[in-house]
Amino acid sequence: MERTLSIIKPNATIDNNIGNIIKKFEDEGLRIAACKLTVLSKEKAEGFYIEHKERPFFGELVSFMTSGPVVIMALEGENAVDKNRQIMGATNPAEAAEGTLRKLYAKSIGENAVHGSDSLQSAEREINYFFDKNEVISRF
Ligand code: GDP
Repeated sequence: MERTLSIIKPNATIDNNIGNIIKKFEDEGLRIAACKLTVLSKEKAEGFYIEHKERPFFGELVSFMTSGPVVIMALEGENAVDKNRQIMGATNPAEAAEGTLRKLYAKSIGENAVHGSDSLQSAEREINYFFDKNEVISRF
């Protein structure tokens, strides 16, 4: 059993795809352990993406992530970190496999619909970054 952090990004919330995305996670056997709809401040988004601070697209990424509502979730289940990455598909929707969330709902490499932790270690940091311990409800 693992937990991972998922974010439904502003392009997908604005396009009314929150339900479609959550349905896919549930259909694939992941459960929601924590969930909130919010708008990120610039500071919160910068802190979340701190490892990308030196990348040329950092400013664009922060500006996109603060441009509208996001749904932040802790998902749990067997092999949750890798399973979520598979459900999401490649970062660039042009390279994402058929049926993946990014193939279905991303607009571009930047506006790519969903975030998912890339390792168990990042998952722990990212879940703690957004949720207090008592907001994460294990369902296993
Ligand atoms: P991920 O783990 O698949 O989300 O990909 P990365 O960790 O490499 O990048 C983090 C996020 O930065 C991506 O999900 C995109 O939203 C954004 N990003 C990555 N590459 C680019 C780029 O070339 N341009 C822009 N605007 N955003 C990018």
